[in-house]
Amino acid sequence: MSETILEVQHLGKSFGTHEILRDIDFSVKPKDVTCIIGPSGSGKSTLLRCMNLLETPSSGEIRYHGTNIMDKHVNVPKYRSKVGMVFQNFNLFNNMTVLKNCTVGQEKVLKKSKEEAHKNAMMYLEKVGMAPYINAKPKQLSGGQKQRVAIARALAMEPEILLFDEPTSALDPQMVGEVLEVMRTLAKDGLTMIIVTHEMAFARDVAKHVIFMGDGVIVEEGTSHQIFEDPQKEQTKEFLSRFR
Ligand code: ADP
Ligand code: MG
Repeated sequence: MSETILEVQHLGKSFGTHEILRDIDFSVKPKDVTCIIGPSGSGKSTLLRCMNLLETPSSGEIRYHGTNIMDKHVNVPKYRSKVGMVFQNFNLFNNMTVLKNCTVGQEKVLKKSKEEAHKNAMMYLEKVGMAPYINAKPKQLSGGQKQRVAIARALAMEPEILLFDEPTSALDPQMVGEVLEVMRTLAKDGLTMIIVTHEMAFARDVAKHVIFMGDGVIVEEGTSHQIFEDPQKEQTKEFLSRFR
């Protein structure tokens, strides 16, 4: 039995009187690939944003190796280097080159030397096939290339878990495949990932654990086989039927 990395317990989030997440419970172990699926507006992004501390949960706890991440002693930038995030819209630093995008966090947060940060960045840029573009600025790249740089930037922080929020939703269809391919490789390498996605074929293939969310709650969860081949709840069946 391996140690739990992240444990979400009774998590709730409200914006004003609008309750967005209610009593969310799940945990993540090393090498787990968890896919979160569900309709737009069901709270998937809010859940990931809470896990990355971009939003403050209203109730419940998120424990990282047993420590509540809302504890005031938690170093937030350091935590975010361990639980990294890849966004739908890339969120690259547009004024910096590809290489600088991948070194700046290592130098500022991890206090790595320029040389070490450079070497590490190159390793991950090669991994995602973006090494030839180190001197380019984000605006010179396609969406698929930007997202691969964003993945390299996140990997360069050597995260223990990487959160992906619809990483291919902003891409032209012909670029979706190249990003999913990189993510498949990461899964094969044993990276722990939580992926919000509408790419059902990908989720079915790659996920170990699938969470179906509806209206701010986990409606159903299970193995990829359980959710995709044998869903139990009407809401899950109805949602999945849209993709057939
Ligand atoms: P999903 O990612 O599943 O589409 P979101 O987490 O983005 O869902 O949104 C869930 C609900 O929370 C939506 O009704 C959305 O309008 C609301 N919401 C998200 N962020 C905020 C915010 N900062 N302030 C108020 N409401 C928000
Ligand atoms: Mg979303």
